[in-house]
Amino acid sequence: MTERKRILTGIRPTGSLHLGHYAGAIENWVRLQHEYDCSFLIADYQVSDYADDITHVRQSVWEVALDWLGAGLNPEGSNFVIESLVPEHTELTTLLSWFLPVSMLERNPTLKAEMAAIEEGEEPGSERKPVPVAFYTYPVMQVANILMPRAHLVPVGEDQLPHIEMTREIARRFNNRFKDVFPEPDALVGRVPRLVGIDGNAKMSKSRNNTIDLKDDAATVTKKIRGMYGGPPRGATEPGDPEENPIFLYLAAFDPDESEVAELRKRYETEGVPNKELKELLTARLNDLLEPMRERRAYYEARMPDVREALEQGTKRFQVLARETMEMVRDGLDLNYLEKY
Ligand code: ATP
Ligand code: MG
Repeated sequence: MTERKRILTGIRPTGSLHLGHYAGAIENWVRLQHEYDCSFLIADYQVSDYADDITHVRQSVWEVALDWLGAGLNPEGSNFVIESLVPEHTELTTLLSWFLPVSMLERNPTLKAEMAAIEEGEEPGSERKPVPVAFYTYPVMQVANILMPRAHLVPVGEDQLPHIEMTREIARRFNNRFKDVFPEPDALVGRVPRLVGIDGNAKMSKSRNNTIDLKDDAATVTKKIRGMYGGPPRGATEPGDPEENPIFLYLAAFDPDESEVAELRKRYETEGVPNKELKELLTARLNDLLEPMRERRAYYEARMPDVREALEQGTKRFQVLARETMEMVRDGLDLNYLEKY
């Protein structure tokens, strides 16, 4: 029997997960978890305000695990991994840093945008912060995360593509120069590469406070969608351009009935459809999607020792893989000083 291919992907523990995470990435994880050996990483080392807010990071580790379970990931078939409990990540990050020019980080568009957001203070009125060195180098650690289990596939949202391109480059360099250790991993972007926020902003993101969270209850979803940005001002029965109205982006993403959406688009363009009607439909479709997730999440919330067990066992299984890889890497680099003298 041939060995199954491996997936590595992850999320930073910065709070609850939202529809952007789901449509950009997690939906693919749920779909692929039975075909691949999967490791899902809670990347606590890579939070920008790690040192300022350890308490929040700690809480978020549990939030993420619960959201994953709610979304339908099975922690027995896959590894739920806490990054910092596998210290090999730091060693591999250091070793790989030798093969990565600073210019590669300087050019990385996602990193540039994230650093600017931190420095400028993301929300209106929030403080500017200096960017810690550890945040500047987080893409290198992400390279180490992906290479650690020698992953073949990395399902992520579009913003992560530059990091995966870096990973491929580093894997090639290492394999060519030292020893063939790493598969060159492919990226797999979700059905919605970058979900816009409910405020119309280009990315749904916690820091922009424009999210629908996977754990939001029906009343919260209703309220958030009622306040959602619905395109430029327009009379309720005035025709409009669906491309300018993000409600249509959401319907395309979350209404499984394509003909219903196509029909609405046509009506919107010709006779106009009040946003109220679009929002009521969207709310219903989102609640259909989220309700089973809420139920599964509640099940696990009442069984926190099982969640802890999932994290512990997944991390342990991953540690075995990590030790194996590190031996191959040290051997490739000839770092076994005391054995050969
Ligand atoms: P937030 O901005 O809300 O804190 P994030 O982007 O920092 O979220 P990460 O942990 O960096 O969250 O990303 C987790 C995964 O979710 C990545 O694969 C990322 O590409 C994906 N993702 C995050 N937000 C979106 C979005 N709005 N649309 C599509 N994918 C997204
Ligand atoms: Mg984040």
